[in-house]
Amino acid sequence: MNYKIAVIPGDGIGPDIVEQAKLVLTEVGNKYGHSFEYKEVLAGGVAIDKVGEPLPEETIKVCKESDSVLLGAVGGPKWDNLAGDERPEKALLGLRSALELFANIRPATMFNQLRDACPLKDEIIGEGGLDLVVVRELTGGIYFGERGREGEEAYDTMKYSVSEIKRIAKVAFDIAMKRNKKVTSIDKSNILENSRLWRSVVEEVAKDYPEVEVNHLYVDNGAMQLVINPKQFDVILTGNMFGDILSDEASMITGSIGMLPSASLGSSKLGMYEPIHGSAPDIAGMDKANPIATVLSVAMMLRYSFDLEKEAKAIEKAVEQVLEEGYRTGDIMSKGMKLVGTKEMGKLIVEKLN
Ligand code: NAD
Repeated sequence: MNYKIAVIPGDGIGPDIVEQAKLVLTEVGNKYGHSFEYKEVLAGGVAIDKVGEPLPEETIKVCKESDSVLLGAVGGPKWDNLAGDERPEKALLGLRSALELFANIRPATMFNQLRDACPLKDEIIGEGGLDLVVVRELTGGIYFGERGREGEEAYDTMKYSVSEIKRIAKVAFDIAMKRNKKVTSIDKSNILENSRLWRSVVEEVAKDYPEVEVNHLYVDNGAMQLVINPKQFDVILTGNMFGDILSDEASMITGSIGMLPSASLGSSKLGMYEPIHGSAPDIAGMDKANPIATVLSVAMMLRYSFDLEKEAKAIEKAVEQVLEEGYRTGDIMSKGMKLVGTKEMGKLIVEKLN
């Protein structure tokens, strides 16, 4: 089958890492009989420089006509003094809303080979590393509610509707069905009314997934459980602000920002896939960036947008083998390992696919 992919290299290390992810994807295509057609479009600082705005209409159009979107990263010091609406990062919010992507999926996987980078004690991690996924609602809650200032006061409103909760809960349960069949919903229902609604809707959705075990935690406890007993989690389901904080916390316990992929999904199969890190301007164009987060984002694309599980696993396995053989980019380097650059890391992963 032929898949159309809109590619947004973006700024900083974006073009370096996206190039490697494309090579990996193309190799998967050769091996398993799929073809991937890439269409490169502008967004971020590079779009400001070339056409005067961070998210050109043409980019939105191409993304909407594609089966999926692959994004590097946007932003950098060159554009830091622009006003909020004109900044490169505006492209991310614009794309999420134009493509109606309401679910952010962030796996926090700790590869056994990188165990040293994990700040938690060995007895907490135990055997087999860490493997959980945070499913965060992305287009509702307090970040989108009414806000304002009145004299000496300021307010932000946290609001969720039944339909918003239902659709994100379904995403979490569907993902749990493909994993270890456990959903932990995190809210603050001892205090917040919208959290009480959240909890009851999650319970309703759970009835459609009798195989999935569901439990609920208050967010303060959830944040604590992530560092004292992270292995209890399979899929964490949570709202926009709690998810913002918890997904960063979950990433940090795996130890390396250059390793973690993400997906933003909507109600269709079209998703946007990107590493969680930024454009790392300090190492842009120097062949130093770790391409693994972007390569693993492409694996997520195969899994969630194209239902190609076997192909997704092949990429994850190839990454694991390269790490097993001791190859490391600078950000994950440790004593006795073999230091490689961005291109070499990409090449090694491609080789392992065979
Ligand atoms: P960053 O993630 O770009 O970099 C933080 C540190 O991690 C840097 O030292 C960087 O060199 C390192 N790093 C990040 N990714 C790496 C990789 N793949 N391999 C090796 N090292 C890596 O965060 P920042 O410095 O806060 O932000 C830089 C720019 O990126 C800013 O303009 C910011 O707004 C933007 N940003 C964009 C996104 C996005 O596009 N989704 C996300 C976060 C930040």
